[in-house]
Amino acid sequence: MMEKAEEILKIKDVNPTAVRILVLRYLLEHLKPQSLKDIEKGLMHTDRSSIFRSLKTFEEKKVVHSIEDGSGMIKYAVCPTGCNCDPQDLHYHFYCTKCSYTYCLLDNPIPIIKLPQNFKMQRANMVVKGLCNKCS
Ligand SMILES: [Zn+2]
Ligand SMILES: [Zn+2]
Ligand SMILES: [Zn+2]
Repeated sequence: MMEKAEEILKIKDVNPTAVRILVLRYLLEHLKPQSLKDIEKGLMHTDRSSIFRSLKTFEEKKVVHSIEDGSGMIKYAVCPTGCNCDPQDLHYHFYCTKCSYTYCLLDNPIPIIKLPQNFKMQRANMVVKGLCNKCS
């Protein structure tokens, strides 16, 4: 039986190198979005640039999506099944101002934005800030 990380890489057509499996496994284990620094801390024997390259590949192949939550650190979360990172697949995120955790609000897709003619959306950064259930 294939483990989950390998299975996801296979579905998304990403070559399952050892580093990629480690990084993806780490993200799957930590349900909340993680920054490069978090991952680096968690995978002590893996160098920063290989982790970074893996994340870039994951982003291109839509294995993960990145979140700019205003903390100054980009965070990465595994995409839900069926996500193609298209505008209709995007969701809101929640940033806790006390514990600095970011949450994917998968039940809250972003609204369809009416753009002027010939404008094309590339990404949306929808972040709600407040206190999470552990901090409120
Ligand atoms: Zn996605
Ligand atoms: Zn919190
Ligand atoms: Zn998310």
